[in-house]
Amino acid sequence: MEKYLSQLNEAQLAPTIQKDGAMIVIAGAGSGKTRVLTFRIAYLMSQGVDSFNILALTFTNKAAKEMKGRIAEIVGSGEAKNLWMGTFHSVFAKILRFEGHHLGFPSNFTIYDTQDSQRLMGSIIKEMGLDKDVYKTKQVYSRISSYKNSLVTVKAYFKNPELMEADAMARRPKMGEIYAEYVDRCFKAGSMDFDDLLLRTNELLTRFPAVLAKYQDKFRYILVDEYQDTNHSQYLIVRALADRFQNICVVGDDAQSIYAFRGANINNILNFQKDYDDVKLYRLEQNYRSTKNIVNAANSVIEHNQTKLEKVVWTSNEEGPKVVVHRSLTDGDEGRFVASSIFENKMQHQMPNSDFAILYRTNAQSRAMEDALRKREIPYRIYGGLSFYQRKEIKDVLAYLRLVINPADEEALKRVINYPARGIGQTTIDRLMVAANGYKKTIFEVLKNIDKVDIKINGGTRNKLKDFATLIESFQVMNQTANAFDLAEYITKTTGLLKELNKDGTPEGVVKLENVEELLNGIKDFVEGQLELADASDSLAEFLEDVALATDMDSDKGDENHVALMTIHLAKGLEFSHVYIVGLEEDLFPSGMSMNTRSELEEERRLFYVALTRAEKQAYLTYALSRYRWGKLIDSDPSRFIEEIDEQYVENLTPIEERRINPMLSEDIFGDAPPNKIRFKKAVQPKLQKKSNKKEPENFKLSVPKKLKKVEKTAATAENTNLFDGELAVGNFVKHLRFGKGEVLKIDGKGGDIKAEIRFEVGGVKKLLLRFAKLKII
Ligand code: ATP
Ligand code: MG
Repeated sequence: MEKYLSQLNEAQLAPTIQKDGAMIVIAGAGSGKTRVLTFRIAYLMSQGVDSFNILALTFTNKAAKEMKGRIAEIVGSGEAKNLWMGTFHSVFAKILRFEGHHLGFPSNFTIYDTQDSQRLMGSIIKEMGLDKDVYKTKQVYSRISSYKNSLVTVKAYFKNPELMEADAMARRPKMGEIYAEYVDRCFKAGSMDFDDLLLRTNELLTRFPAVLAKYQDKFRYILVDEYQDTNHSQYLIVRALADRFQNICVVGDDAQSIYAFRGANINNILNFQKDYDDVKLYRLEQNYRSTKNIVNAANSVIEHNQTKLEKVVWTSNEEGPKVVVHRSLTDGDEGRFVASSIFENKMQHQMPNSDFAILYRTNAQSRAMEDALRKREIPYRIYGGLSFYQRKEIKDVLAYLRLVINPADEEALKRVINYPARGIGQTTIDRLMVAANGYKKTIFEVLKNIDKVDIKINGGTRNKLKDFATLIESFQVMNQTANAFDLAEYITKTTGLLKELNKDGTPEGVVKLENVEELLNGIKDFVEGQLELADASDSLAEFLEDVALATDMDSDKGDENHVALMTIHLAKGLEFSHVYIVGLEEDLFPSGMSMNTRSELEEERRLFYVALTRAEKQAYLTYALSRYRWGKLIDSDPSRFIEEIDEQYVENLTPIEERRINPMLSEDIFGDAPPNKIRFKKAVQPKLQKKSNKKEPENFKLSVPKKLKKVEKTAATAENTNLFDGELAVGNFVKHLRFGKGEVLKIDGKGGDIKAEIRFEVGGVKKLLLRFAKLKII
């Protein structure tokens, strides 16, 4: 441990080794807050604190995983496994599995994602005969979400004339009724939405003192990262749990509070000292992430905020290049500049794609960037768009699995009762819902007892409904003994889902099919990681929970070499060598919707501060003089944030100078890719994106320096060794994404079912289906 503690500076060491008590670390970006949390956990364990008694809450599950990995390096992986670490949502979902029965929820409750919730609200609005242009589902959703995060239950809502009046003024007087019906339906469906995971935890801890005492006793040491962005509901949970032992360490930066629009309350950080006895306040001042120019530029911007805690941030890192500002004529030009600049940096400094990030204010801005990157054949990945698990074909398969675990799940049932088509129409479904409401039963129970139910449907339909219920029941039986992978594969076949996708035949259809295969692959992977689980049905339930709470960030395996594209909100806590902040225009960033009050504007400025401080070596700020927005070409002015940076840290790069500095950057060197190629790629983009890595365009090959060419080539060969059936032989050494290196001991089976027995360095002997195993011969 001593060896590790020497990797901290003095200011970092102090909160790391203060074993007991309440403490808050307030410090600027890149000063090692997350590092302190990580080392502190390792330190506590080295001091004899039981790993079962530690709870750490992070911003993403991926951050938790990385932290765990780092802790495992220090204290050994066995102990690190027992730590409770993750996002608020994933940790409290786990607790609700054990304790939800106190609130009337089954332990197998399903988790509704945003899409499920919005669909349910949509159908409630329809059933209530309300105008869907006034009651827009997205708005209704965010309204209900904000009630929940402020702990306004249905009961509390109807006791609050102010809220009711506000909704009436917004021409939505029936909000309360929708809210009540929505909560009721979720409850009946044995489902919780994201906000429920916090709301119900609060309810649990308030109404059941014994449960609270149990978890207070369990979590004797609590740590929270990014504390500035906790909302009221999260704040209360932490406070309740920490109340008994008061061993709580939170770290945060008020200058990086960027979730006020979702209810995050900066006062949580400001008031922390009042919440506990003897709070120790620590400050860190040295930034280890960025160059002097970046740190100073960021400091000079945040100076413009009136509401802030005084903080010093400095760095002993090199001065580095100045922050580059670049102006383009259009958003298309802006995209081309960014792609060219990335390309040039790659060539000149031999940097991997993963050193670059493009950050924007709104998701819609990614398109222009994508087009330009594709033309340059630069692999990229968009984070935070539709996550893999939210794609239609994936949600369809998952809906079947959810039904197996929890047949009360209304959204899952509605999704697949007639998919693939089995002749059950919307009218029938509507009648089923009416019957279910009338009998106070779930739709599935109505289906199972369809002969005893008073419902107007003909004999043919009745049989179809019975068949569907039997089908799901047969899956449930299978789930008692089979593992999640075998069950999922069986379901895709017997329901006709695969056939349906196969029939499609379009490039989009092929991608969907591949996605389903990828899902099965993921389940396989999961099952293999869960071999110790005795109860098969547990493995499915756990997989579904992981999936429901996976953010797009979490599916990143971290070993892929691509440029990252994401909104600034998502970039919190991350760092990249080179960062491009694009669309720095008035009305876009700062957002036109956030300029009505000083506090809104200040939140935008904090967002800009977060963006700028992600960069280690170089930051680029770009803007366009005109841009397509809502289908119209709109003129724009440069963002005020650019001007707010002290000019000594900025270099203005006009397009003309840019050409003078680097003649290589002019577009016509490469020419445009043939249009058909681009169109094809768009259609099947997710898969081909990776492949496009393999072959560089002709001109690239010509102009590439020898040394770099070699690197690119080896990378391409490694990509190509992805195995197909039959190529593998006993005695081969292979690499698996998850288990690492291994030796092939045995191969059997045929066709798509060839299995290999492999002895891995980590994890011992495993039997893998070659079709899914993604092995590489080494
Ligand atoms: P943010 O506010 O963006 O979340 P942070 O305060 O959590 O930043 P970290 O991510 O913990 O900062 O640290 C920033 C970078 O500096 C990381 O790469 C980290 O490994 C490195 N770092 C932190 N402290 C030290 C140190 N004492 N010596 C060397 N590197 C350090
Ligand atoms: Mg951090």
